[in-house]
Amino acid sequence: MICKNYRKDIFCSAYSEDGELFQLAIKLKNAPGSVAEIANILCSKHVNILHGFHTVCPGREEAVWGLFIDLKESNTKIENLVKEIEGLESTIEVKFSRPIIDGLIVDNLHFPMMVMGERSIVMRIDTFAESFNRLYEKFGSGAYFILYEMGRAAGKRRIKKINEKYCLDKITALKVILAERAAKGWGISEIESFNEEKKESTITIRELFECMPFQGRSKRSKSHFFRGYLAGVLSQLFGNPTLVIEAECVAKGDPNCRFIGRPQSEIK
Ligand SMILES: [Zn+2]
Repeated sequence: MICKNYRKDIFCSAYSEDGELFQLAIKLKNAPGSVAEIANILCSKHVNILHGFHTVCPGREEAVWGLFIDLKESNTKIENLVKEIEGLESTIEVKFSRPIIDGLIVDNLHFPMMVMGERSIVMRIDTFAESFNRLYEKFGSGAYFILYEMGRAAGKRRIKKINEKYCLDKITALKVILAERAAKGWGISEIESFNEEKKESTITIRELFECMPFQGRSKRSKSHFFRGYLAGVLSQLFGNPTLVIEAECVAKGDPNCRFIGRPQSEIK
């Protein structure tokens, strides 16, 4: 099957019923050509790469290349392959691991998981949906308020960090934050309007993680956490308490989720 999107799979596990799977964790010099040398060895041994990531370590002298590989079509043993990679001038250290059960290999060599230099975790959006649903069942409209406030605190914290790290005008700071949300899998945003004078903004987001699990199955808009997140960001940017409503939502059958932020004082 051909993938239509350039989707991003987090390095976690690989499965192949009849594969001969291994994981490699290679520490190498951060220099042009280092990866190519290793790749040449993998190519010459007919090693199939199933999944991988490459990252430069803090300090920038070393890098890590993590790989799930399949040796089914290869003419080499894992120990010999590791020895050959270790012999390269650019290699600092190589570790390998085997499947946890037949056909399934799970990353047990790389920890912690970092996103944009910060310790992070990954959670399925269905897990969020189930948790949020439980809150709605238990607390009704009180749950909307809790999630909104959680989001608002998170949004406020993020915009403060962005402002401390970079010197940006307001709309550029908003663009950076929304681009980060897309990179982290929250959804793909577009700023429809941003009026500093009126302290108003309208933002559309596609594929929002909070609403997609309820697509077309609700009479009400479903975003409260992200709605609060935007309220936190916009309140900081406008220097004024901003209330955000979700005017359109995929959960109600709309094509996208659409958020309108206005000064709290203007909304009765
Ligand atoms: Zn929505």
